[in-house]
Amino acid sequence: MPNKYVYYFGNGKAEGKADMKTLLGGKGANLAEMTNIKLPVPPGFTITTEACNYYYANKKKYPRELKKQVEDALKNIEKDIKLKFGDESNPLLLSVRSGARASMPGMMDTVLNLGLNDKSVKGLIEKTGNERFVYDSYRRFVQMYGDVVMDLKPKDKNQVDPFEEIIEEKKKERKITNDIDFTSEDLKELVKEFKKAIKKETSEDFPDDPMEQLWGAIGAVFRSWMNDRAIVYRKLNNIPVEWGTAVNIQSMVFGNLGETSGTGVAFTRNPSNGENEFYGEYLMNAQGEDVVAGIRTPLPISQLKKAKPKIYKQLELVRKNLEKHYHDMLDIEFTIQEEKLYMLQCRVGKRTGYASVKIAVDMVNEKLIGEKEAVKRVEPEQLNQLLRPIFSTKEKEEAVRDGRLLAKGLNAGPGAASGKVYFNSYDAVNAKARGESVILVRIETSPEDIRGMNASEGILTSRGGMTSHAALVARQMGKVCVAGCGTLEIDYLLKTVKVAGKDHLIKEGDNLSIDGSTGEVIVGKLQAKPSEILQVLIDKTMKPKDSKAYHYYSAFMKWVDKFRRLKIRTNADQPDQCENAVAFGAEGIGLCRTEHMFFGGDRIDAVREMILAYKEEGRRKALDKILPYQRKDFTEIFEVMDGLPVTIRTLDPPLHEFLPHTEIEIHKLARLIGTTVDEITYKLHALEEFNPMLGHRGCRLAISFPEITEMQARAIFEAAAIVQKKGIKVEPEIMIPLISGDREFIAQEKIIRKVADEVMKEKQINIKYKVGTMIEIPRAAIAAGKIAEHAEFFSFGTNDLTQMTFGLSRDDAGSFLPNYLDKEILDRDPFESIDTEGVGVLMKFAVSEGRKVKKDFKIGICGEHGGEPDSIRFCNELGLDYVSCSPFRVPVARLAAARAELTKNTN
Ligand code: ADP
Ligand code: MG
Ligand code: MG
Repeated sequence: MPNKYVYYFGNGKAEGKADMKTLLGGKGANLAEMTNIKLPVPPGFTITTEACNYYYANKKKYPRELKKQVEDALKNIEKDIKLKFGDESNPLLLSVRSGARASMPGMMDTVLNLGLNDKSVKGLIEKTGNERFVYDSYRRFVQMYGDVVMDLKPKDKNQVDPFEEIIEEKKKERKITNDIDFTSEDLKELVKEFKKAIKKETSEDFPDDPMEQLWGAIGAVFRSWMNDRAIVYRKLNNIPVEWGTAVNIQSMVFGNLGETSGTGVAFTRNPSNGENEFYGEYLMNAQGEDVVAGIRTPLPISQLKKAKPKIYKQLELVRKNLEKHYHDMLDIEFTIQEEKLYMLQCRVGKRTGYASVKIAVDMVNEKLIGEKEAVKRVEPEQLNQLLRPIFSTKEKEEAVRDGRLLAKGLNAGPGAASGKVYFNSYDAVNAKARGESVILVRIETSPEDIRGMNASEGILTSRGGMTSHAALVARQMGKVCVAGCGTLEIDYLLKTVKVAGKDHLIKEGDNLSIDGSTGEVIVGKLQAKPSEILQVLIDKTMKPKDSKAYHYYSAFMKWVDKFRRLKIRTNADQPDQCENAVAFGAEGIGLCRTEHMFFGGDRIDAVREMILAYKEEGRRKALDKILPYQRKDFTEIFEVMDGLPVTIRTLDPPLHEFLPHTEIEIHKLARLIGTTVDEITYKLHALEEFNPMLGHRGCRLAISFPEITEMQARAIFEAAAIVQKKGIKVEPEIMIPLISGDREFIAQEKIIRKVADEVMKEKQINIKYKVGTMIEIPRAAIAAGKIAEHAEFFSFGTNDLTQMTFGLSRDDAGSFLPNYLDKEILDRDPFESIDTEGVGVLMKFAVSEGRKVKKDFKIGICGEHGGEPDSIRFCNELGLDYVSCSPFRVPVARLAAARAELTKNTN
């Protein structure tokens, strides 16, 4: 059997279906699915992603079988709708559309009205009696084909689109402003001029043969998979190049046939706030991407209800059927040809974090989905969006009263952003690199702008609706976005923006604030304030019942906690941080860094005195001064944690980090501790190391100076005694950093247990506690079995473990690691997401060695990775007991842990 590269859909039956995205791409699979559920889809066929992969693996040649399969499918379309491709009297026109597995909005190219030439144009005019429509279609075809297939497009950001230039020229000549006002004669001339320009620039004739046109377009779709935009987009979204794109070839339906025709895009619910309402935009007498291109301002769907009730009814029915069938909110593209509705695309709709949570909760209540499914619906980063800042109402009101409200656009991407204005992607990226917060201001965005959008806090456009490129991409990136702010007059050359009748002239680099939840654009900088969820949970400035956002958040998080296995702890070393973390749902502290406490108030003086002491006796004297501070810190933390486990790490960083470095400080310190400047300077030099991260730090310090561990252990146990006497449960877990083998651990453990016994005896109390260790040196992971014979728990310190496994200094990697990512030597930054092939293998080994010794050995992770969803998934698969992350990541980690468990690989 020859390989099957072509899948047909039409006439109520399709060879593909929704779950065949890998092979057919998202668009192709859903066109097939919609056909199968009897929605009105113009017939067509999909060329598989396998054909694309073949194309790239074989020097851009098509598979041998493809030609015949395409021709057969084409005949099928002809039969289904009784038109003929290339026919001079009854021509079939096609659209050629790309469609990868994951949606890549506007990244790749579409050609419409393919099959037209000077002859079929005549036939079509005769058949429709609508000359303007035919030339409008022809004009669009030549323009798209010239751009997409023959590559006549602007070569850099300052060049204007060659076709747009010709159109503008013609508009001036004819004294009109809208495309819609062109006569058929104008359009006919445009076709000629377009073809001339193509010939002039490319030295190639525009192809008349429809078959040649078709193969040209198929090749262009395949090639577009490797264009610059697509590559950047894939990188940003971790889409592998191996996926390839499918090509969809479909018979055309025409939205440009006059006032009973049109085209639109819609969401089955509001993608911005999640309301259960039909939401979208349409334009009558329009084709293709007119709606999203921002050339004409589209009308809201609600208007269609009044203007064309018959069409609206068809749409409303499709909306209901689609949600019932897909059990999700969908994003649809449709065309109306002479009052009849056709579906051209559907896919699961992108939505803001808030909408995502609300729709998931609502759909559970509407019995469209179950609780587990709801949890799977919300991406961890979307939940994070819900926690993002908003402007303080008061400050904003003041700004408005001061006349600083510049304009109001569409609330396309919620959240509050304030920053300096830049007008193109290039400048935005550079400003971000300088450390500035950027607001990217564009007339409209195109895929070329994604680098700049990614570098910005917020995006502001003057054209385009809620489904414009800017809005779509911003929502996906989780950026604040105000779109379609029509009153803005943006001048790219002068790099200014103003509003007619207002005094403000905003120049490049000026501060601007945008509220993506309301659409307001405000001159100057505004302070952002915490989201409602934070106001309820953290600041307690809002009551739970007053916040709708909190209502949905808490309903959702209840389900999240039902389905996760991993416990979530937090990395915190101050009582207030601990309190926040608990409010976010932390179930303990996974890492309390004692050294952070050394800096508060005048404690640092005692710490320095300790470091500078020559003898044990001097050190002990200084340590005695530190003890009460540490005891107080621990007491407060134990109280806040109220019985939840608290893991405290003994001193970790190299000592020089605590020492003074400026002349003045050294003088002050000398006076304070009664020594000379020379002495201190000498000691500073003595402590200098070539490789401090691999030097005298972690348990190595405590091996040299056991009295440090003694003091810290005493502070912990005395604090525990105090708290326990107040009737609060406490169970400290003391964690030794940076061991490489069992003997370091044994030496430290002995000290800790001795102090524990002393304190318990002194205070006449019994304290439950554990002594465990970090696993952060590769050797410790390898020797984990031996270590586990003594330690009571492990916690992976994946920052150091990554650094040492790669032999890569985290503090120096910034200068070359980005290059590794660019050149795809590494897929991801290993400091951001656990390197499962290397570091992960060590972790897996350590887990299995540890649990060979003690079956229920407690193991967690406390590196930065503990808050990163993919790493959390990995930790869940390893069977760790908990992950620990910063307080504000706790909700995200809870969700990631639940999703990891719900979608766990069970084989
Ligand atoms: P994208 O992937 O960028 O959304 P599409 O392949 O969906 O690109 O094509 C863009 C637009 O072209 C569609 O939204 C639709 O309006 C129009 N289009 C595509 N195919 C057809 C068709 N068969 N008939 C009419 N219009 C079409
Ligand atoms: Mg497109
Ligand atoms: Mg589309």
